[in-house]
Amino acid sequence: MRIVVLAGGIGGARFLRGLKQAAPDADITVIGNTGDDIHLFGLKVCPDLDTVMYTLGGGINEEQGWGRTEESFHVKEELAAYGVGPEWFGLGDRDFATHIVRTQMLGAGYPLSAVTEALCARWQPGVRLIPMSDDRVETHVAIEEDGGRKVVHFQEYWVKMRASVDATAVVPVGAEAAKPAPGVLEAIAAADVILFPPSNPVVSVGTILAVPGIRGAIADAGVPVVGLSPIVGGAPVRGMADKVLAAVGVESTASAVAEHYGSGLLDGWLVDTADAAAVAPVEAAGIRCRAVPLLMTDLDATAAMAREALTLAEEVRA
Ligand code: GDP
Ligand code: CA
Repeated sequence: MRIVVLAGGIGGARFLRGLKQAAPDADITVIGNTGDDIHLFGLKVCPDLDTVMYTLGGGINEEQGWGRTEESFHVKEELAAYGVGPEWFGLGDRDFATHIVRTQMLGAGYPLSAVTEALCARWQPGVRLIPMSDDRVETHVAIEEDGGRKVVHFQEYWVKMRASVDATAVVPVGAEAAKPAPGVLEAIAAADVILFPPSNPVVSVGTILAVPGIRGAIADAGVPVVGLSPIVGGAPVRGMADKVLAAVGVESTASAVAEHYGSGLLDGWLVDTADAAAVAPVEAAGIRCRAVPLLMTDLDATAAMAREALTLAEEVRA
């Protein structure tokens, strides 16, 4: 079975670990979000691609959910001693090596997709990881500050400001001119099932869908498309997804997120048992819906979620 998954960082990566356990023989292609990418200290950093690669490759800091395990921060401390920031972005010594290799390869002319493949040769994530695009796409967030409108990089909004002020718009800068990376449309066309993990619907899955061609390819693939809600009990399980959902006019509920994707894209949607009341409205919107436990508390619970998603996919296929 060929499965395509559109993934952000932590939510996507943890789900993928469960999917690999639930479907050990499946051929899994992950289309990764690169809207979070940022240039720091002259280096190209791809937080979501790295979170997937480290999580599936066994190098992730488990408690934190991002960054390397057994990490140290000497380079960051030395940079700070020179007064060189930003200090709010946590880049560890081991992690730096990834960004150095990536930047060096990009500088030598390799596209990001080829660089990602090369990095994955070390980590062996057990899935094919492709960035959504080789072209630069950068998510920017508009906020109101001191009575005026200000636009900041997504990482500045998310990591530095911890989304503490309301966002008025989320813009994937460069997306309209970006092309899907080689292999993206081919993987979608060859898929038996397409899954949206419980990743951020706006700045992870939404950014991938903003690359021209990807949304249409998924809608036209003619195979079941099933998503899992990142919103449980009216709030994100982790992080501040409610802030960016509000910016695009979507309520932070499991049913509103399903309707935001829409029946033109989604065939099936899983909500948590706490949101069982969302099943009827989602089905009324033309999307098959089931309430099952959706907390990725451990690998077995996550694998059970993945099995439910695959079961729902078979149900809508029938
Ligand atoms: P990011 O790029 O690191 O922010 O990661 P993603 O976009 O892939 O996923 C973030 C989303 O994962 C957040 O909106 C969380 O609500 C969601 N999430 C995290 N843990 C869980 C969980 O255990 N269950 C569900 N349903 N969602 C989760
Ligand atoms: Ca992210």
